[in-house]
Amino acid sequence: MTDTRNPPWTRDELLLALDYYLDNADDYFSPTGDGVLELTAKISKVAKAIGLTGSDTLRNANGVSMKLMNFRAHDPNHDTRGLSRGNKLEEVVWAEFADNPAALKMVVSTILDVTQSASGDDLPVFPSDDQIEAREGQLLTRVHRYRERNAAIVKRKKAAYLKKYGHLCCEACGFGFQATYGDRGEGFIECHHTKPVSELVTGEKTKLTDLVLLCANCHRMIHAARPWWSLDELRAALSAAAAQE
Ligand SMILES: [Zn+2]
Ligand SMILES: [Zn+2]
Repeated sequence: MTDTRNPPWTRDELLLALDYYLDNADDYFSPTGDGVLELTAKISKVAKAIGLTGSDTLRNANGVSMKLMNFRAHDPNHDTRGLSRGNKLEEVVWAEFADNPAALKMVVSTILDVTQSASGDDLPVFPSDDQIEAREGQLLTRVHRYRERNAAIVKRKKAAYLKKYGHLCCEACGFGFQATYGDRGEGFIECHHTKPVSELVTGEKTKLTDLVLLCANCHRMIHAARPWWSLDELRAALSAAAAQE
């Protein structure tokens, strides 16, 4: 049973490993220790929820222990000469979360909640070219997408906006589909869920105020790179670009 038959580690799995690492930074991460074994079980569950396939165990304790030691190689508090620094994604995840263990803990607990409550299948999976996965990993990306595509609340959001303003348009750039394309564009607009992915809570109800209406371009731009832009960042980019013209 070697790791080579298994798919590369995902962000979601690395987030779990990093969270464990930060809680136990002075440990030697023995593959037979309870902590590493428990972590391995959790990581395997997450890998399965994502839809990864490989050997039966998918992730084994030796592989997990190695990943933890790879994180140590990035830890400025340890003398890490001779340790392999692992792959690029570990370095990225370390840079994004090592300084913010509290946020990481929240993300990890939500990821675990998602694997408990939804058999991954309940959440829509999108082709990888459709959007860049959030820093917080694939499962929370799916939750975000699921919430902003929930047909019932999207319908209510559009109706409320229409009632207030008389037309639908992008709340960032003002683009209106009907205004631009005529009747074919009537009722056409996307919704974006504004709650930061790191603050997602499973089972939480989406409020109308959590959603903003965005044209397809603006919505794409929010999700086009990591970290995803907030609505304010999107608006700032639009006005900075407009000021350059
Ligand atoms: Zn727009
Ligand atoms: Zn969105």
